[in-house]
Amino acid sequence: MTSPRPDGLYVSVSQLKTYLRCPRQYELRYVLGEKPESVAVALVLGSAVHAALASYYTSVRDGAMLSLEAMLEVFAGAWIAAQPPDMPVLTDDGHPLASVASHGAAVVRTFHAHAARAPAVRPVLIETPFNVDLHDPATGEVLDEKLTGIIDLVAERGGRLRIFEHKTSARRYGRDQLDYDLQPTAYLHAARQLGLDIEGVTFQVLTKAATPIVQVEDVERDTSAEDEFLLTVVGVLRAIDAGAFYPVRGWQCRGCAYARRCRATRV
Ligand code: SF4
Repeated sequence: MTSPRPDGLYVSVSQLKTYLRCPRQYELRYVLGEKPESVAVALVLGSAVHAALASYYTSVRDGAMLSLEAMLEVFAGAWIAAQPPDMPVLTDDGHPLASVASHGAAVVRTFHAHAARAPAVRPVLIETPFNVDLHDPATGEVLDEKLTGIIDLVAERGGRLRIFEHKTSARRYGRDQLDYDLQPTAYLHAARQLGLDIEGVTFQVLTKAATPIVQVEDVERDTSAEDEFLLTVVGVLRAIDAGAFYPVRGWQCRGCAYARRCRATRV
């Protein structure tokens, strides 16, 4: 029998969220290795905006702030690079790709103007990959699997280090998302193991509304949130090992990159 976790002994927040959203989608993507039928435009846009912000913070770290024009150039290159040549890009409500790209450029302009007047941060680490231990909070047993991911930015603000995570979103993050999103908890857990003394996590949410805004939110997580995150990890890994790959139908089916395959294998 093949392993239900073909990526071996690594688990990412994105994999956990996929399983929690729809175990069937997890199976199609990570266990069966099905090729996606399409790529969501939100992923393409998010990837291009991330690249532009990474260039911006790299330039600030190196002592020269990237101009808006240079940032837009990075965005334009990354926008093209993020589109796979062999699959369609799925836009919301049939919006043409070009209009999403020009909207993305507006998001970058909004960020550049925001950064010029925001409280100064001193970038320390940019796009930092990590692989750290996970343990069962009930038994203390170290798991075979490691937590893997990439921290967008670690920067000093007001004399303390913070993790900054950049998000593009259709709308502002609500209270529940700020309080319960798994990513800040997971990344604080990782930072602790990397020996970083991190004060907290800041979300920089770039909204894709007609008039984009940059929502800056500091979020904190205590050790009980970390233990709860580990309980979630252990539960998801056990369910995967048990082969619990049931479909969850809902909003996530709209635009699901595995919808055809899911229908074809429906029991
Ligand atoms: S179509 Fe819906 S139920 Fe099927 S895999 Fe995708 S999200 Fe899950």
